[in-house]
Amino acid sequence: MKVLKFGGSSVGNAESFAKVVEVIQKAIEKDICIVVLSAMRGATDSLIEIGRLARNGDENFRERVKLIETEHFETVRALLPVAEQSSIISFLKKRLNELENICEGVFLLRELTPRTLDRIVSFGEILSSNILSAKLNSLKIENVWKDSRELVKTDSNFGFAGVNFPLTNSTIENYIQSSSSKLHILPGFIASDADGVTTTLGRGGSDYTAAILAAAVNADVLEIWTDVSGMMTADPRLVRTSRNIGRISYREAMELSHFGAKVIYPPTIQPVMNKKIPTWIKNTFAPDDFGTLIEAETPPEKESVRGISSIGRISVLSLEGSGMVGVPGFSKRLFDALSKASINVILITQSSSEHSICVAIEETYGKLAKDVVDAEFVYELSVGKIEPLKVENDLSILALVGENMKSHPGVSGKMFSALGHNGINIHAIAQGSSERNISTIIATKDVKKAINTLHEEFFSDGTKQINLFFAGTGTVGSKLIEQIRGQRDYLRRNLRLNLRVIGVGNSRKMIFDDEGVELENLPALLPDSSTMNLNEFVETILRKNLRNSIFVDATASAEVAGVYSTLLAKSVSVVACNKIACSAAYENYLQLKNLEREFNSTFLFETSVGAGLPVINTLNDLLRSGDEIRRIEAVLSGTLNFVFNNYDGSQSFASIVRQAQAAGYTEPDPRLDLSGIDVARKILILARESGFRLEIEDVEKTPFLPDSCFTGRVEDFYAEMERRENHFRELLENARSRNLSLKYIASFADGKARVSLQEISKEHDFANLSGKDNAILYYTNRYTEQPLVIKGAGAGADVTAAGVFADIIRAARI
Ligand code: ADP
Ligand code: ASP
Ligand code: MG
Repeated sequence: MKVLKFGGSSVGNAESFAKVVEVIQKAIEKDICIVVLSAMRGATDSLIEIGRLARNGDENFRERVKLIETEHFETVRALLPVAEQSSIISFLKKRLNELENICEGVFLLRELTPRTLDRIVSFGEILSSNILSAKLNSLKIENVWKDSRELVKTDSNFGFAGVNFPLTNSTIENYIQSSSSKLHILPGFIASDADGVTTTLGRGGSDYTAAILAAAVNADVLEIWTDVSGMMTADPRLVRTSRNIGRISYREAMELSHFGAKVIYPPTIQPVMNKKIPTWIKNTFAPDDFGTLIEAETPPEKESVRGISSIGRISVLSLEGSGMVGVPGFSKRLFDALSKASINVILITQSSSEHSICVAIEETYGKLAKDVVDAEFVYELSVGKIEPLKVENDLSILALVGENMKSHPGVSGKMFSALGHNGINIHAIAQGSSERNISTIIATKDVKKAINTLHEEFFSDGTKQINLFFAGTGTVGSKLIEQIRGQRDYLRRNLRLNLRVIGVGNSRKMIFDDEGVELENLPALLPDSSTMNLNEFVETILRKNLRNSIFVDATASAEVAGVYSTLLAKSVSVVACNKIACSAAYENYLQLKNLEREFNSTFLFETSVGAGLPVINTLNDLLRSGDEIRRIEAVLSGTLNFVFNNYDGSQSFASIVRQAQAAGYTEPDPRLDLSGIDVARKILILARESGFRLEIEDVEKTPFLPDSCFTGRVEDFYAEMERRENHFRELLENARSRNLSLKYIASFADGKARVSLQEISKEHDFANLSGKDNAILYYTNRYTEQPLVIKGAGAGADVTAAGVFADIIRAARI
């Protein structure tokens, strides 16, 4: 004998009814079958709403009854030949009239008891199961419709009735023994109490009805037919990459469903587990898929975790107080109080000091729980032995489940570090002594991010999804986007990094796409997107709350640099070629460094000095391995190096600067390079990274440009340089006459940073530095005589973008 249950998701319309019939036809070829049916999709929710409307005196309840009628009638009309519709239509009509009459009563009295609500919702299963029976009749498939209320007997706890198993089992056995039918059709979810009054088994309870029947008749198998191909590693609506679990133990299935895997109603497992009845979860719409087999033992698997589930709308109650320590009975009284108020406890944790007990319950009972617990401890409260019950809302439980976890140490460590890394705060933790589950309580707003993070950690092939947000589409920004496009496949294959650009903004526009902005089409998409608003850009990043989020700043904007702290504090990593943040007030730099540490985010800015050259990373490697910086000598301006290398008097100084700007070597405003400010900022960053507390004012700057060049706009700057050509010619000739050349040099020694234009000889370390190159010499405790030298192109969109890209990958792999 076989029991098959079809959920509401399998009977949404006539087409899906037809699929159900196909499955049944196949099943009855081999077995006697008991079919349990849920209400049509959404019907139970609608019926509850109808009851509430009627109680609230809202006449719209009649409309809603009409809507239910229409849906069911339409299904019948599409399902049955016209000649065979009338008897089922008139049956349905009678039931719907009954429903309406009951609701009129509720409307008049403005009262809706749990008992009446059970009666109202029972119509869902009555209607659907009768439609199925009629359809089978019309196909000449002999079947008997049986009212479950005659078989499943319960107490009178309406809405969540407890089953009287001895009575139920014998009633079912008697019924089956006395019937010769090969196919029984029953409504799920509904039952009756000792007085024959309709009760229900809790939302999703049709699964339970099926399990009760399967256990009572000792079925060979129970099949739960739904709209997914089995139990999955996580709720497919939350985790797109979730996959099917082929085989799972009863206990694991029970834990997963207890913690929210809605595909099976939690109490369902107990009756079939006791009788060791194999239970399948199958997909009505893909019946050939394997599905999930739930059984006593499962074959060994290499994965430690079987599935991840979550339940929302949780409140956490904390009972705390010094008076609780060492005094027996506090927890008993707490749980008694909750139980008397019929409040179901989902999870418990107690600190080892016994100073506090934490329990998780459904959010709807939060207020009631506070009232009953505070009333229970009224005396202890009055003498200050305990504190009033604390109730926290907007929480969810997230559970990792797997029999195998006990033999795999480190699962919880991995879980907490993955969550911590993504800034997900854990309110409480519980681990069953069976080590079959580890549950945590987190904020509901973090659930999607957390469950995806953990799924990636425990189930993917190691591929990590990285969610990028770009600010700046100028020379560096657009090169970076081009490089990412070209390298994405390589990264996926070789580093198992799946880079997705979720948001892009520039000074005018911003665009977001959760599926990843189409980088190929960005130039066409951006102009049509919304107007840039930096606050909104940041808020969107935070609202999306995606795992492994990285903000990339390829601008030179102080305003953009101002948002790093907000992002880092929310565990969003920041990668910047913008050097403003690190060269502004020391306090600001320090704050960013501290936030990075505190919130497990990453702040990388390698390209702020020497473009793509490994300047800061090398410095950090030296320091981490115990070395100390004694002195730094550096040519840090690709622009100035280019300018002085090319200025030989044949063209004006201003025109050489223009060439540098045209080649993309200068800052967007070239005055920052020419004034030496840019170099000063860079040496400041190196000094700070070396562990010194310096401000920009502490960097000694000897200007080589006349002050008059710095008034007005960029064009005025060029014009003034042209006018002052003699000044530059003089600098050049002076050096040349002594066989020296000009270099703009930054140095840091004895805690003092300097930047100035210097005349150097042919033997100087920097003499052969050509084009836009940079060179950095680190003199350290280990590199005493010969410095550690880093040299190469120190400007240019391509190398800078490559350096930013490398930082992104570094941040992604932490
Ligand atoms: P039915 O109407 O058939 O009883 P339900 O809606 O109650 O169907 O349960 C099936 C749904 O459960 C799926 O559509 C899926 O969205 C959800 N679900 C949640 N967690 C899981 C999981 N771990 N595996 C499979 N489905 C899950
Ligand atoms: N129809 C009921 C509900 O929606 C029972 C079920 O579908 O299992 O909760
Ligand atoms: Mg269900």
